[in-house]
Amino acid sequence: PKNDEPTVTEQDDTVHDVIIVGSGPAGYTAAIYTARANLSPIVFAGSVTAGGELMNTTEVENYPGFIDGIMGPELMSSMQQQAERFGADIRYEDVVALELEGEVKTVTLEDGSVHRAHAVIIATGSAYRELGLPDEKRLSGHGVSWCATCDGFFFKKQHIAVVGGGDSALEEATFLTKFADKVTIIHRRDSFRASEIMQQRAFDDPKIEVLWNAEVVGINGADKVESVTVRDTQTQATSELAITGLFVAIGSDPRTGLVKDQLELTVDGTIAVDGRSSTTSLAGVFAAGDVVDSTYRQAITAAGSGCVAAVDVEHYLAALE
Ligand code: FAD
Repeated sequence: PKNDEPTVTEQDDTVHDVIIVGSGPAGYTAAIYTARANLSPIVFAGSVTAGGELMNTTEVENYPGFIDGIMGPELMSSMQQQAERFGADIRYEDVVALELEGEVKTVTLEDGSVHRAHAVIIATGSAYRELGLPDEKRLSGHGVSWCATCDGFFFKKQHIAVVGGGDSALEEATFLTKFADKVTIIHRRDSFRASEIMQQRAFDDPKIEVLWNAEVVGINGADKVESVTVRDTQTQATSELAITGLFVAIGSDPRTGLVKDQLELTVDGTIAVDGRSSTTSLAGVFAAGDVVDSTYRQAITAAGSGCVAAVDVEHYLAALE
């Protein structure tokens, strides 16, 4: 442009094929597939949480292809580099607003810049609720876990505890008896919210005991969990329970803040998608990973659904032409 002409910036006129929000296994897999399909994806990875949930964990032993397991951050770094190898443009920024109606979608970042695309993939994941205790983060991956399917195997013949009283807490406790010698369920109230059948299964299991009216107020251990401090909610008396693992199962919140007023959600709070596809209630908007999934919530299922979203985007864009 000549000097007196205004500079046309990308945010003024470029309409990209696809923008991906999120850089967990779902977002990066969608990036690998869309990049290899020549759709030049832009990935807004998030500023502090890039790489997603697996950045907070140590060993991942159930992601296929790694005989000896792989560290969570290493797995995510490999996915990132694999996406970049095919030309995905990964930007470590947070999306603050999305306009998803109409043929051209707009994505606004914290600095106010606006980016446009024909298709958007939402892969913002889901946040496990935390107890909010000082040592919880420090001991995460060192005895504190949010995922029995992922970590149960590490607790063979040990005494562990599960916090919570809903279906998922009881399901996790029952599953963990496959490995642990003893599973103590710590629950704040004097009855469970879980379904009758889940409760009966737990009560019938000789390896499961329940601490009613009990709240975890401290997690103790230098490098790994050695015990928890439990407070009786009626008498306020505290006691120590020696355990090596603490599974927190008090629910999770799909990260739908940016889209909840524009897209249909399910009763579980996840983004509603059509059948096994990633198609949401708005044309050109696709969703993948834990933000659509309240059941499986694994890296491999998130990656699988990222692939589904990428293929759905390819078909959608081809039909637009
Ligand atoms: P996430 O991994 O949660 O990624 C979400 C992404 O969205 C992040 O990149 C974040 O930066 C981005 N994001 C969110 N909001 C914005 C925004 N506004 N702007 C830009 N970006 C945004 N699964 C296994 O299979 N094996 C395991 O061993 C295992 N261990 C686990 C250990 C822990 C401690 C935890 C918490 C989970 C574990 N899981 C494991 C589960 C697994 O991590 C998740 O199922 C998986 O990460 C979900 O992938 P996702 O891509 O849907 O979302």
